[in-house]
Amino acid sequence: MPKPARDAISLWDMSAPETASYKPLDGDATADVAIVGGGYTGCSTALHLARHCISSIILEAEDVGFGGSGRNAGLLNAGLWLPPEQVLEIVGKEAGQRLVELLGAGPQYVFSLIEKYQIRCETTRNGTIHAAHAPSGFADLTNRYNQWKKLGAPVELLNRRQAEDKIGSSAFHGGLLDRRAGTINPMGYAKGLARAAVSEGSRLHTGTRVTKLDRVDGKWRVTTPTGIVTADYVVLGTNAYSDELWPGLNRAFTPIHYFQFASEPLTGDDDRILKERQGLWDTGAVMFSARRDAHGRLIVGSMGKLIGGETGLSRTWASKAVRQYFPELGPVNWEKAWHGRIAFTKDHVPRVHKLAENLYTAIAYNGRGISPGTVFGASIADAIAGKDDTKLAMPLSNLSPEAFRALREAGYELSFKAWRLLKTL
Ligand SMILES: Cc1cc2nc3c(=O)[nH]c(=O)nc-3n(C[C@H](O)[C@H](O)[C@H](O)COP(=O)(O)OP(=O)(O)OC[C@H]3O[C@@H](n4cnc5c(N)ncnc54)[C@H](O)[C@@H]3O)c2cc1C
Repeated sequence: MPKPARDAISLWDMSAPETASYKPLDGDATADVAIVGGGYTGCSTALHLARHCISSIILEAEDVGFGGSGRNAGLLNAGLWLPPEQVLEIVGKEAGQRLVELLGAGPQYVFSLIEKYQIRCETTRNGTIHAAHAPSGFADLTNRYNQWKKLGAPVELLNRRQAEDKIGSSAFHGGLLDRRAGTINPMGYAKGLARAAVSEGSRLHTGTRVTKLDRVDGKWRVTTPTGIVTADYVVLGTNAYSDELWPGLNRAFTPIHYFQFASEPLTGDDDRILKERQGLWDTGAVMFSARRDAHGRLIVGSMGKLIGGETGLSRTWASKAVRQYFPELGPVNWEKAWHGRIAFTKDHVPRVHKLAENLYTAIAYNGRGISPGTVFGASIADAIAGKDDTKLAMPLSNLSPEAFRALREAGYELSFKAWRLLKTL
């Protein structure tokens, strides 16, 4: 049963074809692993633990996909935010190569899970386009193209005319088409991954916020308002939505918001816009994204919180963006608007931490979390199953606070707001 727009946290919450729901924890329980957070990281950890015959309980404060996993743009991209050579510089040669390889194949792995568990998430597999907002953006894309091409990735550099043909907009200076990538209904994938984990034996409770973690007699005691879970291991899959549960975790990244507007389904001639259904984001410092959904809606987004709810400044920006990028379209009716929180780090590289004995977390995917969340969840499951910690998808690092986090957060939000104001004048 689709949720009414007023209650839904995103378009995807209204439209996800996966609909299973779960109940809060009711009484005490035990498992090998307690997982906090029911997004991609938590659900993938549970699914992969089950494959190692390790039992788990997922405890989700709200609902599956309540965090970034049910609010994102649904661009299933390969690799990290940074081009491969920069990843190697930051992470180190050996670990960096492993990471680039794993995440380069990330979409393929996600598609294989979607296939295996018949996850209903409106998949398209025609790639994504990183579009040049300016000639300088095209130079950046050419560099990315050369790096990925060297690694044998199926990427294509689109000139201005080719980009215009695929995007249906003359506003871009070319693009980088990555054939490994695609688009999904992100909430459909989150719920499907949860269903897959449960089908393999994991237990899942929603409406169950974990309020305390402590060690008692060599085990983790995981406290919630409706029961205590006793477990050998804990995995925190709370990412940008981390609360005060683990000291310092929500200060290890800068939260940045991203908002989106979804139109009513477009019809007829309007099908020229992203006609092959690639998802798009641009090289601008304040990023712009656009995609279509399975029903033909156009979804546009940019950085910052939704200002003025569904009717205020952000809506004016969205209507103006459509006029700028797709002038032939005419006025569109907006059906749903929402925003979500992204965990950013200064170096744009995610972190996997061992926070204490038998306590892992993966955080700060820097706006690219669909395949990293899936891959890092699998990797943490491997570590719990006994794989050498030094062979994880991402090397373990110590928790350290992002410098001037609050100042940075406020600074970003202010500049996004100023940018939007400027763009709506
Ligand atoms: C607007 C937006 C657009 C994005 N676009 C893309 C994109 O196109 N492609 C892409 O790859 N990535 C994108 N991302 C990033 C991606 O969505 C995230 O990186 C990913 O969803 C993170 O998944 P996660 O499971 O680690 O965390 P989340 O999905 O955020 O899940 C964390 C969960 O933890 C729960 N939680 C927190 N504290 C507690 C507690 N104490 N007890 C119990 N539960 C708790 C929360 O309720 C939440 O459900 C985008 C993100 C946003 C916000």
